Amino acid sequence: MTLPKNETGIVTVTHKRYAVFRIFLLTSCLVGLRRSFAREEDTMDFKLNKEQEAIQKAAREFAQGEFDKEIALEHERAHTFPTELLKKACELGFIGIHFPEEYGGQEYGIVENALVVEEFCRQDSSIGIALSLADFSSEVILRAGSEEQKQKYLIPVTKGEALSSGGFTEPDHGSDITLMDTTAVKEGDEYVINGVKTFITNGTIGSFVILLCQTDPEAKPTYRGQSTIIVETGTPGYTTADVGEKMGVKMTSTGELSFNNARVPSSNLVGEENKGFYQVLEFFDESRVEIAAQALGIAQGAFDRALAYTKERSQFGKKLAQFQVTQHKLADMVTQIETARLIVYKSAWNFDQGNIDPKLTSIAKMYAGRVAVEVADEAIQLFGGYGYMLEYEVERFYRDAKLMEIYEGTREIQKNTIASALLGKL
Ligand SMILES: Cc1cc2nc3c(=O)[nH]c(=O)nc-3n(C[C@H](O)[C@H](O)[C@H](O)COP(=O)(O)OP(=O)(O)OC[C@H]3O[C@@H](n4cnc5c(N)ncnc54)[C@H](O)[C@@H]3O)c2cc1C
Repeated sequence: MTLPKNETGIVTVTHKRYAVFRIFLLTSCLVGLRRSFAREEDTMDFKLNKEQEAIQKAAREFAQGEFDKEIALEHERAHTFPTELLKKACELGFIGIHFPEEYGGQEYGIVENALVVEEFCRQDSSIGIALSLADFSSEVILRAGSEEQKQKYLIPVTKGEALSSGGFTEPDHGSDITLMDTTAVKEGDEYVINGVKTFITNGTIGSFVILLCQTDPEAKPTYRGQSTIIVETGTPGYTTADVGEKMGVKMTSTGELSFNNARVPSSNLVGEENKGFYQVLEFFDESRVEIAAQALGIAQGAFDRALAYTKERSQFGKKLAQFQVTQHKLADMVTQIETARLIVYKSAWNFDQGNIDPKLTSIAKMYAGRVAVEVADEAIQLFGGYGYMLEYEVERFYRDAKLMEIYEGTREIQKNTIASALLGKL
């Protein structure tokens, strides 16, 4: 590739090409980056280490260079997944950054994944969410699956050749997944699956789903009779349909999955039979941090746009930013964001230290989710009528933000988790 030069012979590139070029330099080998920085000691320290700063910068430059408002609106209108952006993000190692190298990952932790997710959602809430959910639930396989399953399912996900799904919610079991109506009955060396899952991310476009099924309907308590089983798209008896028009995240597929005597080999069982509920709870401890990072990025992105707008727009002969009311709104928003960032990073760091703390994870998800909704709401207010228009983006951030308080456990369910950790069995 020959880069254009100006009269002085200095290479000039457009903003987009410059960003991509820099990202290439920065991220052409995240693995190499990892080796080139010594791991800093894990003491109490509120700053990112140099390696994390480099990843954050690379993710920001990639998102700024590649995510485009017009592309986002096109995908939102057409309800199509941004496949081309996923491919590029995979090439640079952003998707599955927290997976081991042998499965196409970069061997980083949840902190680094959270930094990428935050930057992606900051630049564009819808694209950021879509890309960060490309590997949704794969961590169940990563943690509990066989070597063969990891090779077969994780590598295509990190290459951007497959999207994964996690099928937990059912029409009659949403917040309460302790009993599943979807059953998997063992017949010879196969499981025969019947039931319906709903609201499943990547449901109509995913390559496989990690399904929570009741394998022992007699188990007491019922959740001790649940297992996770991988079902591939195209399995006879397995069909998908779109759940219908949504408020936000329109470029992400949300499907209803139906199983009518769908047969899968018994080797598709993930880990041990009847341990599925525990595998899913462990997954939530990790995935709720990722959703909290999505929320943080959305809040920051809505704030960035509002801040810039109030410095440009004049009314009554003054910039909006010169009104003290505006200044106080901006101060409140940034206070909420910085507080959310502390708890999101802390919960990610805590997870990476091997300290599984559902209370902390729930606090992060609940708090960051609320902040995303409130900050995006205030951003629309600061834009006035323009904030209500698609073109100014903040209304889309607001629509996407609301999901942060619903999926992966509603706000109320997070409060239940926090309260139960505080109170124990009463
Ligand atoms: C766009 C989208 C994507 C999704 N992606 C996935 C996915 O990929 N995989 C998947 O499995 N699921 C997914 N979900 C489902 C999501 O996780 C559920 O919608 C959510 O867990 C809530 O379940 P529900 O909708 O059945 O609501 P319900 O459980 O019926 O809850 C309704 C209301 O009652 C409250 N409530 C329920 N129980 C209690 C209680 N004990 N105490 C206090 N309040 C309570 C809830 O907080 C809520 O306010 C997705 C949902 C959406 C909208």
